Amino acid sequence: MRLILLGPPGAGKGTQAARLVETHSIPQLSTGDMLRAAVAAETETGLKAKAVMEAGDLVSDAIVNQIVSDRISEPDCANGFILDGYPRTLAQADAVGDMLTEKGLALDAVVELVVDDRALVGRIVKRAEDAAAAGQPVRKDDTPEVFDERLRAYYKSTAPLTGYYYAKGDLKTVDGMDTIDGVTAQINAALKAH
Ligand code: AMP
Repeated sequence: MRLILLGPPGAGKGTQAARLVETHSIPQLSTGDMLRAAVAAETETGLKAKAVMEAGDLVSDAIVNQIVSDRISEPDCANGFILDGYPRTLAQADAVGDMLTEKGLALDAVVELVVDDRALVGRIVKRAEDAAAAGQPVRKDDTPEVFDERLRAYYKSTAPLTGYYYAKGDLKTVDGMDTIDGVTAQINAALKAH
């Protein structure tokens, strides 16, 4: 199963991806997590990405496409993967399509989590509070100020992907305002119908 999870920051992509990992025994590929690891390790990619991420902007397509291309070639992706936070631009969508075609593979589905924008900032703030309470590192971009920029980047660059995948016949739309279990059930139903 090769799956893309689409949705604005705070839509619940990471939460749902973690559940799909369990159900389908395939890895979750979060470009955000991979970039944060690169920043923490101070690699060349991390050094380039750090300021862009802290400002809530998008890291360049070239960097992110390379990370994903390398990652999906690893053995644990042989049976599929869940892309969480990628693609985020039309150029990335074309790139992942080309990567899969080259391998003789195709996407199974693109699941869009639709969430009321007004709920998103509250979810991001809660995520930061929960992380702090659990003694985990708090993401520097999980603040209301940076969130505004992340939402702008979403509408400018990522929202067009829903039309792109709808036109390809790959898009499944799920009500992301449902409970976590409810969203999981909707995703499972959409994938079964596929
Ligand atoms: P996320 O964890 O998915 O919210 O991503 C955190 C940040 O990493 C984003 O705000 C971007 O700066 C960067 N990022 C993650 N994935 C991508 C992507 N596919 N394209 C560009 N930038 C990305």
